[in-house]
Amino acid sequence: MRIGFHIPTEGGWHKTLQRALGRRCETLQVFVGAPVQWRSLRPRADGAAEWREGLRRHDIGPVFVHANYLVNLASTEAALWRRSIRRLARDLRHAALLGAEGVVTHLGSPRAENPRSLEWCLARVAAAVDAALERAEVEVVLLLENSAGMGSAVGSAYEHLGEIIGRSRHPDRLGVCLDSAHSFAAGYAWHLPEGLDAALDEADRAFGLGKLRLLHVNDSKTPLASHVDRHWHIGKGHIGSCGFRVIVNHPRLRHLPMVMETPEASLEADLRNLRALRRCIPAAWRPPFRP
Ligand SMILES: [Zn+2]
Ligand SMILES: [Zn+2]
Repeated sequence: MRIGFHIPTEGGWHKTLQRALGRRCETLQVFVGAPVQWRSLRPRADGAAEWREGLRRHDIGPVFVHANYLVNLASTEAALWRRSIRRLARDLRHAALLGAEGVVTHLGSPRAENPRSLEWCLARVAAAVDAALERAEVEVVLLLENSAGMGSAVGSAYEHLGEIIGRSRHPDRLGVCLDSAHSFAAGYAWHLPEGLDAALDEADRAFGLGKLRLLHVNDSKTPLASHVDRHWHIGKGHIGSCGFRVIVNHPRLRHLPMVMETPEASLEADLRNLRALRRCIPAAWRPPFRP
């Protein structure tokens, strides 16, 4: 088990590493460029080398890149869909430069006024994923993240992630990232031992738990099956600290890197969330807090 945060990258890679160290990150996730702008600059070779060396020196890893939020792999608009493929390919290439193991992407949604069948959406996403992987030509794994099922968002059922992987020409280059808050909002009772067991059995049948490479650990501000994606502070939401005790100690999950995307993201709020999560883990398995 390695625990970390989504770390903002404002101010450059040196500053990003300092932020990660302040938050005791053992693993982390970043955006490359602003999350809601199409433009993104290629990380400079010297900055990227220094970043990779810093990660190695401080034993931080694995590292993940979260794809840009504008990316919509299920878009019904041809121009937006193609632009999403180009941007995802760029995020994959930039992730390789930064020494990341994977790029996490949301699957997107067709426009509400232009609804499409589930079948159409899954085929659309699988085609986009293949196009981005072929364009990027890097070793980095693309992780499909499950959704809360807000609006017409694709990927709230684990089965859909499995369907997309099954349709891809590159299943070996695909993995899965499950988000605790999204799973809970989609109706999977992750906060209860029997609920989490059932959810993981379903995930295993859908895509094989060997594909699961990363957990996003976020509490949920909205109730079970609300289909509303609102991340909340660990232990303060509807999953609660009893729920996180079930999640982080589960034998099928506890080996995975766990990244928090909790609100505020100030040092103080992040350290509070880190303490709350670590309180859920028995001291015997917990490496000591590094100074
Ligand atoms: Zn997430
Ligand atoms: Zn979310």
